[in-house]
Amino acid sequence: MDNLSLKNRDLSNIWHPCTQMKDHERLPLIPIKSAKGVYLEDFDGNKYIDAISSWWVNLFGHRNPYINQKIIEQLQSLEHVIFAGFTHEPIVRLSERLVKLTPKNLTKCFYADNGSSAIEVAIKMSFHYNKNRGKTKPYFVSLTNAYHGETIGALSLGDLGIYKESYKEILIKTIKTEVPIDKSDEASIEAANKLRKLFEKRANEISAFIVEPLVQCAGGMHMYSPLFLKLSYQLCKEFDIHFIADEIAVGFGRTGNMFAIQSADIEPDFMALSKGITGGYLPLSVVMLSQKIYDGFYCDYNLNKSFLHSHSYTGNALSCSAANAVLDIFENENIIEKNREKSEYINKKLQNFLNLENVESIRQTGMIAAITIKGYSATERIGLKIYEYGLKHGVLLRPLGNVIYFMPPYIITFEEIDKMMKVAFDGIKELLS
Ligand SMILES: *Cc1c(COP(=O)(O)O)cnc(C)c1O
Repeated sequence: MDNLSLKNRDLSNIWHPCTQMKDHERLPLIPIKSAKGVYLEDFDGNKYIDAISSWWVNLFGHRNPYINQKIIEQLQSLEHVIFAGFTHEPIVRLSERLVKLTPKNLTKCFYADNGSSAIEVAIKMSFHYNKNRGKTKPYFVSLTNAYHGETIGALSLGDLGIYKESYKEILIKTIKTEVPIDKSDEASIEAANKLRKLFEKRANEISAFIVEPLVQCAGGMHMYSPLFLKLSYQLCKEFDIHFIADEIAVGFGRTGNMFAIQSADIEPDFMALSKGITGGYLPLSVVMLSQKIYDGFYCDYNLNKSFLHSHSYTGNALSCSAANAVLDIFENENIIEKNREKSEYINKKLQNFLNLENVESIRQTGMIAAITIKGYSATERIGLKIYEYGLKHGVLLRPLGNVIYFMPPYIITFEEIDKMMKVAFDGIKELLS
C-alpha cells in the first residue's frame, strides 16, 4: 500500500471534517502509517510531533503500551452491550472513580459517545428538569467566543461565526454574555457584572448558564481567571439557574488541576467530559450531574417526566476500559505534578516569542500555551502557512486563525518541547522574511 494510492482513494470517497475539500487540490492529505508516543509517522518515514494531541484528545501518547494492554484485556470478555437494562464492570468502576474525582455534589453519570452529544444531554436535562417542576425556561446563556460543539443545540451555544453563521435560522434560543477579556480580576468582575444585569432582567426564562472553564480552546485559546467561575457560579445560585461546566477540552489535567473548575472550588450542576477521557483512543463522553437533578426525573411510570435520551454506543465497554486505564496512569504516575514542571518549562520558552515583532501576545494555562500573531489579514491565511511550515519540519501545529498554540500529550519530553517550540518560533519568524 503506498502513499499516493491512499491519498487518491481517500479523496474519491471521503469528505473530511472541518475541511474545505478543495484545499486538497493543493495541500496533500497525509496518510499516517503508524504512531508512537508523541510521534506520527507517514509512509515516507517522516515523523511529526503531535503538538495538538490529535485535536486535544491524546494524553499519554499514541499506542501507549498500558492503555493498549487494558483494551486488549477487555476484548477478551466484552466489547459492547446495550446500555439500557444492562451494565458492565468497566463502566461501574469508571463511574465510581469519576464521582470520587469530581466535586462532591456530582454523584451521577449519564454517558454518551462524543462531546457535542454530552452538551445536548446537559441542556436537554436542564430544560426538562425545570419543566418537571412546572417551569418552562427555554433560554440558555453562554459566553462570547464560546465553542461547545457542532450539533444544533451545542452549535447554538457557541459564538464562533465560522461554524455557526450558515445555520442561524435553525438554532435554539440562546443569549450571549461577555467573556472576561483577559486573565485579570478586573476583567472577571466586569464580565460578572454584565451577567448579573442579564440575570436580573431575564432569569425566569433561562434554564442554564454554560462555560468552558478557564480556557476557551476553539475560540483561539482565550484565557480568563478562576474568579469569573466563582462569581458566575454564585450568580447562578442566586438566580436559580443551572451552571454547566463544559470540561470537554480542559478536563483531565489540561489546565494544571484534574478539572479546571477545581481552581475555583465550585460545584456545578452539570459537568461535561469527553476528549481526554479515553486518552485519545475511543469515543466516550459523560455528563456528571447532581443528585438533585437526578431526583427531578425519578418517579413512578410517567413518560413525560422521564429522560428518554440514548445513543447506540452509550457506555461502550472498550471505551470505558481505556478510560479506566487513563485514570490508572493519573494515579500511578503522578501526572498532575509532572505536568507542573513541564508547563513551567513551556512558560519559560514561551517568553522568547515576545522577541518576534509579529507576535502580539502570549498566554498559558497549565499544558496549554498560545501565541497571537499580528499584522496579517485573514486572506493571507498565516495559520495555514505555519501549519505547512510545521509539517515540513516535523511538527504538527494546527493554528486557529492567527493563534499558534501548543497542547501536547503529557508524555512529551523536554527535548521534544524544545523542538516543538523552536519549529513554531522559526515558522513565525519566517513570516517576516
Ligand atoms: C471539542 C469540544 C466539544 C465538542 O466535542 P466533540 O466530541 O468534538 O463533539 C464541546 N466543547 C468543547 C469545549 C470542546 O472543546
